[in-house]
Amino acid sequence: MMKAIVCDHPGQLRVVELPIPENKPGNVLLRIRRVGVCGTDMHIYKGTQPFLSYPRVMGHELAGEVVEAPADSGLVPGDAVFVMPYLSCGKCIACRKGKTNCCSNIQVLGVHCDGGMAEYLSLPAGYVFRAEGITLDQAAMIEFLAIGAHAVKRGDVKAGQRILVVGAGPIGMAVMLFSRLAGADVTALDMREDRLEVCSSVLGVNHVVAVGEDDKALLAVYSDDEFFDVVFDATGNIHAMKRGLEFVAQGGNYVLVSIVQDTISFFDPEFHKRETSLLGSRNATIADFEFVLDTMRAGRIPTALLNTHRASLEDFPAVLGDWMNPDHGVIKAIVEC
Ligand SMILES: [Zn+2]
Ligand SMILES: [Zn+2]
Repeated sequence: MMKAIVCDHPGQLRVVELPIPENKPGNVLLRIRRVGVCGTDMHIYKGTQPFLSYPRVMGHELAGEVVEAPADSGLVPGDAVFVMPYLSCGKCIACRKGKTNCCSNIQVLGVHCDGGMAEYLSLPAGYVFRAEGITLDQAAMIEFLAIGAHAVKRGDVKAGQRILVVGAGPIGMAVMLFSRLAGADVTALDMREDRLEVCSSVLGVNHVVAVGEDDKALLAVYSDDEFFDVVFDATGNIHAMKRGLEFVAQGGNYVLVSIVQDTISFFDPEFHKRETSLLGSRNATIADFEFVLDTMRAGRIPTALLNTHRASLEDFPAVLGDWMNPDHGVIKAIVEC
């Protein structure tokens, strides 16, 4: 038997004993060591994740050690690994184009199917990658960073461009980080001063603006009245997502990284006059994961500063409430098994 954390229904998490998963042929059996906690998990706990049924073992930001692996997988017991948690079908229209991140039949571990907040997990070998040259903590941080890296690729961010990232949660921070690494001039907009402080001091963004009466005027100042080549929304907030279009420069891109269970509408003349490119950005591909891994190995990601909190698997149900409280200043929390 193994310990796992199950969310029975919104608002209830329990430590339970489950059988160790049977390792089917072609699968890797992992001993999970680290699980990153993110907005998706909080949505699951709050009951605001649109793609979910309960009960669910959450956990999709996974690092661990190989216990058992197929001979042809290139993995051997004891290997430290990270997981790409988006199981794709390989056959649908998106997969045929290499866009496995938005597969028609996608199964995201910890969302559509049970995830890795457990001592063991069995999954197809193709989703398990050796975490060479990085720590287990770093390995558990690849996934959320890959989502940011993917969004930056979607937005086609180029050196010298002005970029606005609305929402300074972990995903927004990942977008800022990779936009800075791409050589862009990055502005962060958020309601929380503490988060904006991190954007300046840890991520090196060029400008920060607190949401308020004069925010648009400040954004104009920081962009020479032209606004931004690419605006990213990472808020999950309907008002912010509607408003973000105002900050897109003529000929610019608007990338919605976050998701909201609502209808987003724009005043069409504002959309049209900019010839706005509106883009969704969902999950990440293996190329994004590899890019993050390389960037991490090169020491260009301040992972230790972004990992603000940690707890054991057993303690997680008790601390999640605190972690969701903005006063606790959580950026990335890691659960240790
Ligand atoms: Zn995540
Ligand atoms: Zn597919």
